[in-house]
Amino acid sequence: MANGKLTMVGESDKRPARIHHLVKAPANTPWAQERKHSWDAKDPATVYYTPETLADGTPTTALTVILRTKGCHWWWSSGCTFCGYFNDTRDDVTSEDLHSQWEKSLARFDDFESMGMVKVYTSGSLLEDREIPLDFQERVLRDCHEMGKELVVESRTEQLSKEKLEWATKINPKFSVAIGLEAYDDEVLRFHVNKGFSIKSWDKAVENLAKFGLRIKTYLMFKPPFMSEGDALVHGAKWIRDVAERSDEISVNPMNIQRGTVIDRLFRANEYRPPWLWSLVQLIQDVHYDIHPTNSGNGAADQISRLIIHPTAGGKVRGAHNCGSCDGDVVAAIERYSVSGDIHELDGLDCDCKKVWQREIELDKAMPIPLGSGKNRRGNALLHLRSP
Ligand code: SF4
Ligand SMILES: [Zn+2]
Repeated sequence: MANGKLTMVGESDKRPARIHHLVKAPANTPWAQERKHSWDAKDPATVYYTPETLADGTPTTALTVILRTKGCHWWWSSGCTFCGYFNDTRDDVTSEDLHSQWEKSLARFDDFESMGMVKVYTSGSLLEDREIPLDFQERVLRDCHEMGKELVVESRTEQLSKEKLEWATKINPKFSVAIGLEAYDDEVLRFHVNKGFSIKSWDKAVENLAKFGLRIKTYLMFKPPFMSEGDALVHGAKWIRDVAERSDEISVNPMNIQRGTVIDRLFRANEYRPPWLWSLVQLIQDVHYDIHPTNSGNGAADQISRLIIHPTAGGKVRGAHNCGSCDGDVVAAIERYSVSGDIHELDGLDCDCKKVWQREIELDKAMPIPLGSGKNRRGNALLHLRSP
């Protein structure tokens, strides 16, 4: 707010030209611009490795490469309400820069030879020609195929046409595509997430991916904005069941608050709180037997899908969290479950704050409070109540 006017970009005494300037202004604010221009476009944003499992269940190490790109074309015109990827993007990244980032990433670790998987993330869609030059798409597909590494890329749904997949599979016949579906519900996609595509578009994309024998990874968002904790639990379980048969892997992302996003503004105005870790435990318990009918764990012949939850910023106030004293144990149990798929990883978890969580869920389900009844979980409860 400047001079009493809500304007975050340009001069404060001028009206914003478009609503976009109000909603997306953080991407254009001085701190964001300064950050964007502080990095070298020839260096990748982040490169790290994690333990993973190959499509056939063999344990391996996965190299994750996060490239600095022009970002997501949906963000250019609108953008999802929680997406903070703009922080890693810049308009002037060239194809040459991308090739340099890729080469530096592959050379980063001496033991790259032993890594069986490479995940390439572009803060958008690798197979989108407006975002990533065709020659670079081809380079990633070809290199991974020739090196014998399982490749995972991220994409929105509209790029996954038959023509595009036909082209891509001629270069690399077997890779995985992770789609940020967020919710299997058109109303939530439109009004809570502002996703810019519908469930029909996801249905079509996975049909095409299946036709070309590509692996499908589905990201679902746990507790999108404008939703209570109680509603999130009910919807979250339903969406997992809706997509399980058509997804090789479901990754549930508990909301974490990234700087400069719509959800950040809601969070700072006390109109949104990230999910409880207890809700994630409950969610796993609710759907576990839909995913693993005989509790035989990840990789078993009768598994419907694989359910993974890695709470980003778990235990922190901007990520999924509990009271502060039990967070570490609960996050660790959820992480263990994501690896093994064994429901007994969650046995024995308890804390006094579980009662508070339970009461919140009951209230959310019983009362007409669209934004939920949740209060701060950290600090002195009495002081929070007294504060205006
Ligand atoms: S589609 Fe993905 S990258 Fe694009 S704005 Fe939405 S969350 Fe961000
Ligand atoms: Zn606790």
